[in-house]
Amino acid sequence: MSNDDCIFCKIIEKEIPSKILYENNETIAFLDNFPISQGHTIVIPKKHYTNLEDIPINILYEIMGTVKNVSNLIYKNLKNDGYNILQNNYKAAGQIINHFHIQIIPRSIADGKFKLLIPREQSTEEELNQTLKIIKDSKY
Ligand SMILES: [Zn+2]
Repeated sequence: MSNDDCIFCKIIEKEIPSKILYENNETIAFLDNFPISQGHTIVIPKKHYTNLEDIPINILYEIMGTVKNVSNLIYKNLKNDGYNILQNNYKAAGQIINHFHIQIIPRSIADGKFKLLIPREQSTEEELNQTLKIIKDSKY
């Protein structure tokens, strides 16, 4: 399964060159050409899936195994202070390339990059119960 217009499918097919950190039968991990930080890496399934809900669970296990191994490799060898694992679904969440991908973003304490300090407000018991009901009781 691939998509002719998909840049990630072209990377998998080696039509577009990339700096591959790791590859197995189901996944590939390569350096982002527009890194947020040194070592910013993209992990993707070799088959074209658009979003999280499209991916068979066995393939998701493979992807997360690659994310774990490559994260360990980056963290150990680049000696950063930490890293973010980022995965966006749909345009509203910032997804730009419609091929499921997970980003590994190495971080330093004082790198001045994004911080996940998003304003939040505490929900009431009633709001939480209503949200639970909507999510759990909906038929789809
Ligand atoms: Zn694709």
